Amino acid sequence: MMGQQAGAQDQLFYSFNLETHLPSDHLLRGIDRFLDLDDLRKHLAPFYSHTGRPSIDPELMIRMLIIGYSFGIRSERRLCEDVHLNLAYRWFCRLGLQDRIPDHSTFSKNRHGRFRQSDAFRQVFETVLRRCMSEGLVKGEGFAVDASVVKADANKARRVPGDEAVDWNKGEGPSRAVREYLAALEANNPTEDDSAQQAPPAPPKSLSLTDPSARYTAAPGGPAFFAYSTNYLIDLKAGIIVDVEATPAHRSQEVDSTKTMIERVETRFNLKPKRLVGDTAYGTGPMVGWMVNDKKIEPHVPLFDKTERNDGTFGRSSFTFDAQNNRYVCPAGKLLKPTWRMKKKNPYMYRASQLDCQDCSLKSQCCPNMAHRKIERSPYEPARDVARQIARTAAYKQSRKDRKKVEMLFAHLKRILKLDRLRLRGPSGAHDEFLLAATAQNLRRMAKWLMPKVEIASPMPV
Ligand code: SF4
Repeated sequence: MMGQQAGAQDQLFYSFNLETHLPSDHLLRGIDRFLDLDDLRKHLAPFYSHTGRPSIDPELMIRMLIIGYSFGIRSERRLCEDVHLNLAYRWFCRLGLQDRIPDHSTFSKNRHGRFRQSDAFRQVFETVLRRCMSEGLVKGEGFAVDASVVKADANKARRVPGDEAVDWNKGEGPSRAVREYLAALEANNPTEDDSAQQAPPAPPKSLSLTDPSARYTAAPGGPAFFAYSTNYLIDLKAGIIVDVEATPAHRSQEVDSTKTMIERVETRFNLKPKRLVGDTAYGTGPMVGWMVNDKKIEPHVPLFDKTERNDGTFGRSSFTFDAQNNRYVCPAGKLLKPTWRMKKKNPYMYRASQLDCQDCSLKSQCCPNMAHRKIERSPYEPARDVARQIARTAAYKQSRKDRKKVEMLFAHLKRILKLDRLRLRGPSGAHDEFLLAATAQNLRRMAKWLMPKVEIASPMPV
């Protein structure tokens, strides 16, 4: 017999307990177990007035934001609605069935105000990272670094050429993102001494009028858009994110952020890796030189190397460097001696004798269009040689496999956490969003690794 639901919803009193209602293997139970926000109130206390009406509990807002970033709820309005309706979310936020949910505009006020001034999101990220460390998920032996481009909340139709003068005070005055951009320009204004020493950086090709700090960029073959990059530094043991940094989507700034992150993790957590794994972008001479000479970290990176030739003539590997006498020996056994450098940062130049080359039987394979052969040697060549030696080891092969862990985190960030476009503008908006997303990823990772029976609520766990 076909049953029919009675449909009575007019019961006034229920015997109901949120704690028992939530399944024991729900993902939020795992996240809650590893989230400790006891220090948050202490951290934020100086940013609240001692008088006036009590504000909404900052811990409640952080818990709601963690739900939003853990389950890919990108809209603050929808997040408030979902917390209102979803019993598991209410349980995680320590709300009873009748408790009111903060208004979505409250998020905006706190995010751009107290939370940003106090850098509360970094404090939460570091608290979660400390928990990962105390649970033994961070080994500190090997780190991997990579960057992923995330679209900015800026319409590309509202752009002007980068060298065009813009009146930012037009209309209602500069927005928050514009004010941040102008403040950064002011802070990086070169002094007279700097201007004399180096040329000012070239202006970007296009400038967004909505979020001028975002960089106009494109994937090969794809359409261009304004974007920021999220830079992850992860520990290779369990793929825990040990630091995150937001930069405009520009290769050199992404690479520079690695130094910031390595230094910060060393200062804050006393963690310094033995090896650093990255892709070719991190294999430039200055970067490898910094790893080997300054930080004593093994560079497990493919070198950015243009010394080999593809026209059949001898590349640099055909020449042997004699370090003791500071000269190269060519395939014909002749010497290439160093010449004078115009600037200290320029590469060293080594030159063969014209007399040797003009009668050489190998000239057509060596320098067919030149009177004599020249070879450049980067000041970072000793460090690059270290990277070349490492590239022949089995540990390097393993590092190439390990690097996939950071790529998987980016795939998860965009596909599951749905952070493929930012909602907040300006560098600080990108900073806040990337920190919260990384915090959510670390919490999910702990829940998955340390509570094996936890059933991940979304279709594809980290
Ligand atoms: S051309 Fe000059 S540099 Fe090249 S192999 Fe001959 S002697 Fe050496």
